[in-house]
Amino acid sequence: MKCPFCNSKLGVISRKKFFCKNCCFEIHVESDNYVVYRIEFDGSTSKLCVMDEVS
Ligand SMILES: [Zn+2]
Repeated sequence: MKCPFCNSKLGVISRKKFFCKNCCFEIHVESDNYVVYRIEFDGSTSKLCVMDEVS
């Protein structure tokens, strides 16, 4: 699976959670959507956007 923003390879947190170290985003697979979270400086996450599933 690749980052939809920068197209680099995503790191794997768990089966349904991925991260992009380039963008500092976490991408969670939730039902048929990808939910993108931004990783804040303090390590918390804030929901950024929801995308339709990409291939
Ligand atoms: Zn990225």
